[in-house]
Amino acid sequence: LQLVQILASQAASALANAGLYRTLERQAITDGLTGLYNHRYFQENLALEIFRSKRYAKTFSLVFLDVDFFKQYNDTHGHLHGDAVLVALSKLLIAGLRKSDVAVRYGGEEFVLLLPETPKENAFAVAGTIREKIAAHPFPGRETQPQGKVTVSMGIAAFPEDGSDGPTLLHHADDALYQAKHRGRNRVC
Ligand code: GH3
Ligand code: MG
Ligand code: MG
Repeated sequence: LQLVQILASQAASALANAGLYRTLERQAITDGLTGLYNHRYFQENLALEIFRSKRYAKTFSLVFLDVDFFKQYNDTHGHLHGDAVLVALSKLLIAGLRKSDVAVRYGGEEFVLLLPETPKENAFAVAGTIREKIAAHPFPGRETQPQGKVTVSMGIAAFPEDGSDGPTLLHHADDALYQAKHRGRNRVC
């Protein structure tokens, strides 16, 4: 009985360690608030996707997304409610994507979608549908936003036509996002 007790306690701690390791592994690549992938995972995945797309002569698209007038939402409703918007919005992103797509919280209220094997026109359609779903979603307190709803702007860049390395692609997606903001927000460029 003593021997079994010793073995059992060692097995228990091995299992606990394995569970802890898996949790840490997941925490290292995801964002604590939204559960989306984090910036670090994105950089690794982008490098891999560029390598893969070059190797197999494929295309892929990057979508940069930024919440419109989010500072105003926070100022009006407080950061806790702002956080809840980011969580709900992340769920809408996941719901609008395929399993093979990657949704990332890039920074505060900025997100990136990486869409493998997706030409720009298709990415434009996917982004447009997500944009509409977000604009129609009944986020609490949305009526105080400038357009009476919570909206997002998005910019798209595609590999290889807009760039064949990460920084160039991101730069172009960011430029397109800036255009979307400049042209009145709640749109995809
Ligand atoms: P624009 O339409 O030009 O994007 O306007 P904006 O107010 O969204 O842009 P700006 O970059 O000036 O403000 C971003 C705001 O996002 C600042 C901050 O209040 C808010 N924010 C960033 N990260 C978080 C977060 O993790 N939680 C909450 N609640 N707010 C955040
Ligand atoms: Mg921003
Ligand atoms: Mg913003």
